[in-house]
Amino acid sequence: MSRSRETLREEVRARLADEVGASFGDGPERVALVYPSPYRAGMSSLGFLQIHREIRASGRVAERAFLPDDPDAYRSSRTPLFTYESERPVADFPIVALSVAFELELAGMVEVLELAGIPPLAADRDHRHPLIVMGGPLTFSNPLPLAPFADVVLMGECDETIHALLDHCFEHFVRGKIGTKETTLRAIADGIDSAFVPTLHGDEMPHVAAADLGKLPAHAAIRTPNTELRDMFLLEAERGCSRGCTYCVMRRSTNGGMRIVPMEKILGLIPEDAKRVGLVGAAVSDHPKIADIVETLADRGCEVGLSSLRPDRLNDRFVGALKRAGYRTLTTASDGASQRLRDQVQRKAQEKHLHRAAELTRAHGLERLKLYMMVGLPGEEDSDIDELVGYATELSRIAPLSLGIAPFVSKRNTPMDGLPFAGIKVVEQRLDRLRRGVKGRVEVRATSARWAFLEHALAQGGRAEGRAVMDAVHAGGSFAAWKRALEALPEKRPRRALSVVA
Ligand code: SF4
Repeated sequence: MSRSRETLREEVRARLADEVGASFGDGPERVALVYPSPYRAGMSSLGFLQIHREIRASGRVAERAFLPDDPDAYRSSRTPLFTYESERPVADFPIVALSVAFELELAGMVEVLELAGIPPLAADRDHRHPLIVMGGPLTFSNPLPLAPFADVVLMGECDETIHALLDHCFEHFVRGKIGTKETTLRAIADGIDSAFVPTLHGDEMPHVAAADLGKLPAHAAIRTPNTELRDMFLLEAERGCSRGCTYCVMRRSTNGGMRIVPMEKILGLIPEDAKRVGLVGAAVSDHPKIADIVETLADRGCEVGLSSLRPDRLNDRFVGALKRAGYRTLTTASDGASQRLRDQVQRKAQEKHLHRAAELTRAHGLERLKLYMMVGLPGEEDSDIDELVGYATELSRIAPLSLGIAPFVSKRNTPMDGLPFAGIKVVEQRLDRLRRGVKGRVEVRATSARWAFLEHALAQGGRAEGRAVMDAVHAGGSFAAWKRALEALPEKRPRRALSVVA
């Protein structure tokens, strides 16, 4: 049944009423912050919430909007996408900033702009339209497919650069002091090293920014029960990673390396009434005081969630603290199926660490061990999968075991940039071999090989692949529509030189 415009507004008001920490206000310098996935994903993104808090703290107005759960309801009721805080149409804001986390979210990016009544392609917009700024985790690897859509892309960590960018926008563009979009974009390109302006820079993207230490830790001003993280107060315990896994965009050399937030600062920022705390970071368990932090929070009666656990960091005290802080499943990753592959990608985890993780799961009465793995790494053979079957079977005798499998997708800004996708069939055969090998003993959940294939096309692609996403969205957004749109691209387009990072 189609829903009315008023019903859609009431749904948004109900979510707002459930939030703790949301703030309202008005002022002349307003920014719409739009997340191209639904509310439950956007409100779990600490980066998105950090930028929202940063803009608000500077005295400007930042209002949120998300890809609706049911975009068709907005279309059929002719409801333009509006912000949560003031219910103003997104298109009425002078600046619209989008955070894009990963390649496949480009579809949501096209959809939110169209739902707002804003032409997605920058070339179709003029001075009557908002300035469209993009940023987010995708900018650490390859934001070039965003180039046809964005007026500006802020590369990397933009805790500081968002302020510089808004200063330029409100000084030059919005107040009309100098007046044109072109002069504003020129001022941004000249004034902010990490700002990528597609109309000025061509395909040459600047390096990603690393934020000043004083900006850390990112923390969310708002908590909500309407996400999977349910009322969790999110803050970062560290940023970046000191390790060097060769497939990972967060590896030590991508931007500022690992930056650790002191324990006292972390504990001091957690509100008294927060009963659930999410510690976020690419390598949270590498924080030298992580066990102390979790123990202290458990003593306060808090439940704690960590965004990542490295198997070589698990020990009796740490897992005991996690159990006291509410952990029921111990989740970690080893990524390569065999030791040979883990060595090849410089992943430190070894089989002995996984054994230890299983033993700690059992010793502390946790319900399950969950391991994240990749399949389809270059050089992978059936024998690597057989090795995984062998030790997964052994681990499952120690503790109930789940495997979460993702196909390998090579990313720019990593040493594995430019490597081909293993192939949908190959990935599915390996998954089949794994499932047969551990049948009845280990639960296996895998992300789609077909969508990983599309992710790879965008991760290694450029402007043309970005435009193909728009065509795919207009053709219904199915896998077949994406494949057709990408296959329609000219086959032998010049490829950007590989960016090999040491
Ligand atoms: S995969 Fe994890 S441990 Fe390895 S470099 Fe990336 S964030 Fe660090």
